Amino acid sequence: MKRLLIVGLMLAASFANAQKSPKNIILMIGDGMGYNTVSLRILEANGTSNFERFTHIGSIKTYNSDGGITDSAAGGTAFAIGEKTKDGVVGMDANLQPKTNLMEVAQKNKQATGIVVTCALTHATPASFSAHQPKRKMAEEIANDIINSNIDLLVGGGIKHFTKRKDGRNLFDEAKTKGYNVFTDTTSYFSATPQKAMVLVADEHLKAADKERGNFLPRATMKTIELLRDNKKGFFMMVEGSQIDWAAHGNDANQIKAEMADFDKTIGAVLDFAQKDGNTLVIVLADHDTGGLTLPPTEVNNLSEEYGSYVVKFSTGAHCGTLIPVFAYGPGAEKFQGIYQNSDVFHKIMQLKKWGK
Ligand SMILES: [Zn+2]
Repeated sequence: MKRLLIVGLMLAASFANAQKSPKNIILMIGDGMGYNTVSLRILEANGTSNFERFTHIGSIKTYNSDGGITDSAAGGTAFAIGEKTKDGVVGMDANLQPKTNLMEVAQKNKQATGIVVTCALTHATPASFSAHQPKRKMAEEIANDIINSNIDLLVGGGIKHFTKRKDGRNLFDEAKTKGYNVFTDTTSYFSATPQKAMVLVADEHLKAADKERGNFLPRATMKTIELLRDNKKGFFMMVEGSQIDWAAHGNDANQIKAEMADFDKTIGAVLDFAQKDGNTLVIVLADHDTGGLTLPPTEVNNLSEEYGSYVVKFSTGAHCGTLIPVFAYGPGAEKFQGIYQNSDVFHKIMQLKKWGK
């Protein structure tokens, strides 16, 4: 009887564990989004920010394989392959060996895959998940990797790296022979139902959030989810708010506010989907902080200890070494609590999905 009880408890425990494996995973990266970038957004949104809907929060250490401050290539690659690497490297380890990325693991496990970004698809973060090259600047080689990546839906910019190349190749034509539908405007993508598509809507990067990008990120993200969810085995997707970083490099507070509002709106739409679906894990994080944004007081009165309101200030035009927040919601979200390495995000996803590399 006692033995039966133990077996029963073990079964119950393994069943509980099995239930925690999410069917779908959506990894959302706010490039250059530090703790204070999120603080600013939450304060500006005055109780309406979707960041406040997350149930589990952790922190990651983002330094690169040399122990220095990371760039977006090494930062994105740590998430994608589960190893820290050198700055500038995409999809390769510190010895410049190509390593299997999460998109490839997901494909091996019959999952649908997708990437949606507001920069060129060849840029560092999306390239970390779709290419294996020693230098992020090798846009033409990265574009060639992308059309061979077999990722189902690829949405962003960067047309010129596919069609106006030094080698004269037209990678859109080549992509079509590999089964891709190619769209160069959002309207035709939003009204189509392709299984496999490359959607490139800008020659290089998309416009900034406060300069006519409109609802591109939330709409393209939700359209892509709608298509990916047809796969009965589930999907893995990476979404990037790519231009938070650039606004921060420029120490432009208004542009950061616009980019963060856009990213927040996208998070809201994704969380609405995850909430309804019940079987989707949403992880929001960043590769590194940019700008060293802080919110000091407008005035300091040492006698009365009154500080007034805050202003937005920056401590640098570059990247910073600070810890980065991780927000998680859905089955397995508790796994993302605590303080750990950026490369552990990969291993946590692998464990949750029971994917042997
Ligand atoms: Zn940057």
